[in-house]
Amino acid sequence: MYKQRIFLSPPHMSGKEQEYIAEVFASNYIAPLGAFVDRFEDSACNYTGIDHALATSSGTAAIHLALRVLGVGEGDFVLASSFTFIGSIAPILYQNATPVFIDSDESWNLSPYLLKKAIHNLPKKPKALIVTHLYGQMAKIEQIVDICRENDIYLIEDAAESLGATYKERHSGTFGDFGIYSFNGNKIITTSGGGMLVSSNKEWIEKAKFYATQAKEPMPYYEHKEVGYNYRMSNVLAAIGVAQMEVLDERVKKAREIFSFYQNELQTIDEIEFMPEITGSMGNRWLSTLTFSKTNPSTIIEALEEVNVESRRLWKPMHLQPLFAKNIAFVDGTSEALFQTGLCLPTPTNVDLSELSRVTEVIKDLC
Ligand SMILES: *Cc1c(COP(=O)(O)O)cnc(C)c1O
Repeated sequence: MYKQRIFLSPPHMSGKEQEYIAEVFASNYIAPLGAFVDRFEDSACNYTGIDHALATSSGTAAIHLALRVLGVGEGDFVLASSFTFIGSIAPILYQNATPVFIDSDESWNLSPYLLKKAIHNLPKKPKALIVTHLYGQMAKIEQIVDICRENDIYLIEDAAESLGATYKERHSGTFGDFGIYSFNGNKIITTSGGGMLVSSNKEWIEKAKFYATQAKEPMPYYEHKEVGYNYRMSNVLAAIGVAQMEVLDERVKKAREIFSFYQNELQTIDEIEFMPEITGSMGNRWLSTLTFSKTNPSTIIEALEEVNVESRRLWKPMHLQPLFAKNIAFVDGTSEALFQTGLCLPTPTNVDLSELSRVTEVIKDLC
């Protein structure tokens, strides 16, 4: 038995985190907010080129704030990628709005064709679209932006998995009315838990900050006209975030190298196809993902587990979830097929490439 487990996407510290946390303790501002929250927001702005950012307790909270600021509420349709993680969708329910799911195309990401079809066929104009850049690979964002503009639909980019990914050198999360990032423990960089809401609209980010801090009216006492949330990030976690931002490019580079390693090692196996990268884009390859046209992915997961390697099925599409059995969906079977045939391979940026032959040997044996 291999002692050293290979994890799917383990946290990978830079070495500076504890130094910055020590600064936080020295300042005594361990508790809500403080200088590192500002620094973390600034570094996200500098890195992605967006003007305004708000550090939040999670990526899910950031999406919720975006919907709230945009006035999404009961009776509204919100279009969304079906092939995604529940954190992208749950905030639509928090706002008592109705998700409408759009399938993927050959990019694995949201189909612009089905998006148009949905807009033309729904009984009412949808209020917003939440598009996910899946596994760190860019969706067809240029077309999606155009469709949203033409139809007067707000665009929220769920870039939870895609921090560092670009389309025509512009960062994921900066094309829409809002973008969100996640710093959950398994993402390309992490603060243990946390998120970021970004926008080029200053007023919207200020409004989001108001809602994220219990919607306290600007009065010398606690006055409330609206309901808010406790959604801000702690200064301690922001210190971890500042250190992690400093190594983000290195992490993206390594994740892409891991992807190339798998691709080279497995290129002779006909039944394997890797997730594509659309022309003009550079994904962060947060997780290396692939499909098998013959072998059952569950067989591979079990065989990898025997050599102490963690792997996972692809996301189960939202339109197949019991929770959304009654929701409208514009689908053509693409994400369902990906779910049935696909797999996420470990993408641990803190592991030597040579160790990952433990993964590829198992797959070569089985396929
Ligand atoms: C991780 C993730 C989220 C949620 O982020 P949290 O920080 O865990 O709340 C949302 N959408 C996608 C696509 C994700 O992968």
